[in-house]
Amino acid sequence: MNFNSKGEESITYDAIVVGSGISGGWAAKELCEKGVKTLVLERGRMIDHINIFKHIHAKGYTGILAMEHGNSGGGKQGELAVIHAYKTTSTF
Ligand SMILES: Cc1cc2nc3c(=O)[nH]c(=O)nc-3n(C[C@H](O)[C@H](O)[C@H](O)COP(=O)(O)OP(=O)(O)OC[C@H]3O[C@@H](n4cnc5c(N)ncnc54)[C@H](O)[C@@H]3O)c2cc1C
Repeated sequence: MNFNSKGEESITYDAIVVGSGISGGWAAKELCEKGVKTLVLERGRMIDHINIFKHIHAKGYTGILAMEHGNSGGGKQGELAVIHAYKTTSTF
């Protein structure tokens, strides 16, 4: 018989933030940066940089969309990451 003695510890949080909008998202960021074990609950769909255009079009917007990607890494790797981000957001 196997017992997961760390089971309760792994599903126990110091803080639970409901909603990942700007308020909840910022609260979660602050809590995490201070080392507080935080769980964010979001009832909405997963919206990230990869599917944001798809989501906006599904809501009925048919105009031109553009997104400015920051360079999260340096050198050639950073440049390639920007190109990859543009390509993946344009494939819907
Ligand atoms: C059409 C529109 C245009 C806007 N334009 C601007 C603008 O140009 N500039 C600007 O500064 N502000 C703008 N605002 C206002 C801005 O969007 C809000 O002030 C801001 O999003 C509020 O942030 P929030 O985190 O409090 O709430 P929200 O962004 O609404 O986030 C709340 C989150 O909680 C989730 N949630 C709710 N209930 C539950 C639950 N029971 N369980 C789990 N998750 C839950 C929701 O799904 C949502 O993701 C605009 C608002 C609208 C509607």
